[in-house]
Order: sequence, then structure tokens, then C-alpha cells
Amino acid sequence: MIVRTRFAPSPTGFLHLGGARTALFSWAYARHFGGQFILRIEDTDVERSTPEAVQAIIDGMKWLGLDHDEGPFYQMQHMDRYREVIAQMVKDGTAYYCYCSLEELDAMRERQRTAGEHTRYDGTWRPEPGKTLPPVPEGRHPVVRFKNPEEGDVTWEDQVKGTITISNQELDDLIIARQDGTPTYNFCVVVDDWDMRITHVIRGDDHVNNTPRQINILKALGAPLPLYAHLPMILGGDGEKLSKRHGAVSVMEYPEAGYLPDAMVNYLARLGWSHGDDEIFSREQFCQWFDFDHMSSSAARFDTEKLNWLNNHYIRQTDNAELARLVRPRLERLGAQLENAPDLIQVVELLKERVNTINELADAAMLFYRQPQPDAALLEKHLTAESLDALKNYVSNCETVEWNKDAISAMTKAVLAEHKLKMPQLAMPLRLLLTGQLQTPSIDAVVTLFGRDTVLSRLKSSLS
Ligand code: GLU
Repeated sequence: MIVRTRFAPSPTGFLHLGGARTALFSWAYARHFGGQFILRIEDTDVERSTPEAVQAIIDGMKWLGLDHDEGPFYQMQHMDRYREVIAQMVKDGTAYYCYCSLEELDAMRERQRTAGEHTRYDGTWRPEPGKTLPPVPEGRHPVVRFKNPEEGDVTWEDQVKGTITISNQELDDLIIARQDGTPTYNFCVVVDDWDMRITHVIRGDDHVNNTPRQINILKALGAPLPLYAHLPMILGGDGEKLSKRHGAVSVMEYPEAGYLPDAMVNYLARLGWSHGDDEIFSREQFCQWFDFDHMSSSAARFDTEKLNWLNNHYIRQTDNAELARLVRPRLERLGAQLENAPDLIQVVELLKERVNTINELADAAMLFYRQPQPDAALLEKHLTAESLDALKNYVSNCETVEWNKDAISAMTKAVLAEHKLKMPQLAMPLRLLLTGQLQTPSIDAVVTLFGRDTVLSRLKSSLS
């Protein structure tokens, strides 16, 4: 058997983290078995589906590196097929026309409520041997209902949640085509899963309730049943359903905020799934390891700190030239002066250890690309008479020292010894004068990167 999985988003908004994780797991499962991964856009809710949302889904998957083998397929392009199957089912007697008006259905529910019963379609138009159906009301268009079995249970071995059994008595006869003939959601999913020969339906557990209905329809069609895996929800750190309140929920806000796709994939992979104590692994490793045996059946919690930790790891792993490419447009937005300034590749190398996002890297890098404007009060505090003498000595040494970090470092130490000062007494005023800030990486590294000309001109103009 060739494993065929699908990701079937409804394009009614951006691709959120829950959707991205569903896509990731479906993709990884197919990749694990050398199978196929299909992208299907469930756009039958024409009021709420938008081309922008379709694009956002495709962009999000591309950013995460989740390539599909088939599709994107669009359900709106399968309407003829759905109608054909509905007609066939009516013909076979597995579905039937129901002429109940909305008022009649309301009255039916009201009666059931008053009698303290579960509200459900009462089977008025359900054909049964020996039963006489009511006369067809003139001019009224019928809906089509699926003839759900009345007896027995629906049971499936959920790959994540274990055995799930639902009694058929809990399921009434689902409408599969509306009065205007358009097929309904659950029906379209069934026909597509069948036609696309999906072997594993991997989706959010908000769909668990749809599964027994879909299984019954598949059985009525004589279609093979896929295996089902319902993934537990992702909650915010506070245990509430993940929402805007918890920060970005659209996947595409993460590249904006300076996250790397490898970090996001690694992070999402661990949301509800584990492989021993492994926290850091590549996409390839994840595909090799991924199975449902190590899935947690309870909800996962989103943890920004862990995502940041992983992002820091992947930033450190990323080639400096690539980091520079990612940082440059951000620096431009921040108004950086990149001409005649330290080499960005060396700057990112110096700073990448300590940042959690590319945006933080850009913010940090700005110290090399703007005119310093040291705060007067800070200058007064750090530019003491002793420091000033040492600084002048430092400047004159800068004229001649060999311009590399080791030589500069040795020169700095010699100046400190000569003036009997501690490192901060020289480094703090130097930082202020060169960068306008007190926190920077090691002063020797900063000085080296600025280059002799900038260091001399900035120091001389401040000390003269
Ligand atoms: N279109 C559904 C959704 O976006 C998914 C349906 C499915 O995976 O079966 O929630």
C-alpha cells in the first residue's frame, strides 16, 4: 500500500499554528513511508473562502518547506463529481429526498425539546419497506439526506486517541445536498478522500465528531476506509485555546518576526509528539522518526520561550552570509547606514550567539550602522578624569596598532595596566563614544569591526 495523506484546509483565514502542525504531521507521515502528500483546498464555503487565504496557506507551507506531491485541488472544481455521487446514492437508496420545510424542522425540534428528547431529524421522509411517504409538497425543492444506519455502532482505531465508538443512534440522517443541490461539507470530504485514495486522514481533533458520519457514508459508497488520526489541540501557555492574545497565530507572522522555518518546524514537531529526549532535530530526522506511537493524546501547550530557544539554536547554525541576507532588509527599514560601515557578515557572526530572532539580530547590529548619540548623563558618569587619560593613550595606540582583535586586545590590556584601571573604566566610555550604548559584545571585537578610521574619528572628535 502506498501511504497517501492530505492537508485539507478551509481557506477562510490565514494558516494558523494548529493548521501548520496538522500539515507538518500529514507531510511527515507521507515522507516517512515514501508516500504521497496531497494539498486540497476546501473552498466550498464560498462566503468565507478568499483567494488571499488560499495564497496565505500556500505561502505558509512553502515557508515551512512542506512540499506537496499532488494538488492543490479545489473542492469547488469537483462539484460535478459530488452531484454525480449524490444522484447515484439516491438511485441506490443510500440517500433520499427530504421535503421538510425549515418551519417543519423547527416544529419537529420544538416537539422533541418539549418531550425532553434529543433533537434530531425524525425520519419523516426516510424510505422504509412498507412505509408510505407523505405527498410531495408542490414547488418545494428537497434536500438530500444520507440514510444513516439506525442500528449498531461506528468504531475506529484512532491512531492518536485509541478506539472510539459512537452509536448510530446518536447520528441522524445528515443532509448531503442542500435545496439548491450544493453538496455539504462532510460529504465533499468523503468523496475527495475516496477519489484521492487517501489512506490516512490526519487532522485536528475538532473533526472527531465528523468521523463517524464520514465513515458511514464511505461504507455506503463501498469505499475503502482510511485510518484516522486526530491531533490534539494546541493551547496557549495559560491553558486556554490558542488565540491572537497569545501573540502571533498566523504562521506567516513568524518570518516577519524573525523566526527561521527550521526552528518553527522543529518546534511544531514537538507539539504533541516526542522522540525520547530529543529536542533538536532536522526535518529529515523528523520524517524518519515520525509515527503515531509517540503522540500525546492530550492538548499541547504553546511555549514561546522554547520556540525562542530553538530559533536561537538555528540562528547559530545558519551560515553568516545567509543571516546577513535576512538581516539586511530589516536594517534598511531601521534606517541603517550600510555604506562605509563594518562588514555585515562579520557583524552577524559577532552577534548571532545572543539573539533569539532575526529582528533582534537586526536591532543589535544597528550599533554598527548608526551615528552614536551617547546620553550626556551617562558620559559624565563614565568619562572620569582617569578614564580620559587612558582613553587618550588608547587613541594614540590605535594609530599604530596592528588592526586585528588579538593585537587590539593586547594593546587594551597594556593601557589598562599603565593607568592601573579595571576593564570597565576604559570599556564603558569607549562603548558610549563609539556606539552610544553601554551594552555591546566585547569591546575589542567591536573596535576591531569598526575599523581604524571610524574608531579614530569617533574618539578624536569626542575627546578633542
Ligand atoms: N477543511 C477542514 C478544516 O480546515 C479540514 C477537514 C479535514 O481535514 O477533514 O478544518
